[in-house]
Parts: sequence; structure tokens; C-alpha cells
Amino acid sequence: MKPIYLVDLTSIKDSAGARMDLRDQVTLPNFTWEGERLLEFDNPWWIELEITNVSRGYQVHGKTGGRYWLDCDRCLERVRLALETEFDDLFLPESISSQEEEARSFAGDELDLSATIMEAVVLQIPLKVLCASTCRGLCSVCGTNLNKAACNCKTESFDPRLATLLKWKQDKGGGDDGQS
Ligand SMILES: [Zn+2]
Ligand SMILES: [Zn+2]
Repeated sequence: MKPIYLVDLTSIKDSAGARMDLRDQVTLPNFTWEGERLLEFDNPWWIELEITNVSRGYQVHGKTGGRYWLDCDRCLERVRLALETEFDDLFLPESISSQEEEARSFAGDELDLSATIMEAVVLQIPLKVLCASTCRGLCSVCGTNLNKAACNCKTESFDPRLATLLKWKQDKGGGDDGQS
């Protein structure tokens, strides 16, 4: 995967304690969320970074924020959401990072912040997204978006017990057309 964000360490690599502050923009890659729904970022996102040379590596503290699109859980319409998140990561040279589980690794004069940023963002995305708390969803029979139109199906509040009952009646040849 192409890195999302790389930091050039040249200006602080030779002096322990040196710090660089950055304000920038970042383009986040769209991906599939929870199986089949596409999570699309409204790019670019803003990003703020403080990177400190801690002699054996680099401490990164940062924030990022922006907007993104997901499908409503009930009606599948696109919903635009916003989030802001913070992250803190220690980067150590590849040779020693493997001994510290909490640390990420880097090589050369560059930090790849892709995983740091994407993990922080993904952790803030809600598992359930609704376009509105009152969303009426889709008709389970004809698929009509019930926020936009009404349909004539008789399943307004779909109750699985009712479906079982209807099926049982149909199997018996009784039907349920209200004329019996
Ligand atoms: Zn909805
Ligand atoms: Zn319907």
C-alpha cells in the first residue's frame, strides 16, 4: 500500500531533544467497512504533528480530523459524519523496535505514519450509523425507503412471529386476505 503520510526527519535527526511541529493536510484512502459498505473520506483531512527526537527514536504526538461518508444502517442512504482523533506513538529503529511491543519501527530518515493515522481514525468510527434517530429504514418486502415514500406492504413493524404465522396459514391453504 502507498504510504499515507511520510515525515522527513532530516532537520531533527542529529540532535536529541529536537522537536518539529507540522501542520499539514493528508489524503486518507477509502476502504470497505463492516463487510460491504464503502467508507469514503472527504479529503483532504487536516493533521497536526509534534515529533521529538528522543535519542533512541522519535516520539510522535498528533491530531487529525475531517469528514467522511458511510451508509445509514437502516435506509442505506449516504451519511456525512465528522471526527477528530489524537495519537501518540514511539518509533524505534527496526533493530530494537521488535523488542518493545508498544513501539513502531522506522528505517532511514523517514517516518511512515500510515498505520498510526489510520488506526486512530478507525477507532473513532461508530459501529452503527443512522441518518437520523428517527430513520424509518427500508420496507422489508418491497425495499422502498420509508423516509421518502410510503408503500402498500403490510409489514410496518415487522414481527418475525407474525411472518411465521402467515406462512403457517398459507401452507394450510387458508390465506389471509381478510375475507374468511
Ligand atoms: Zn437512514
Ligand atoms: Zn413495501
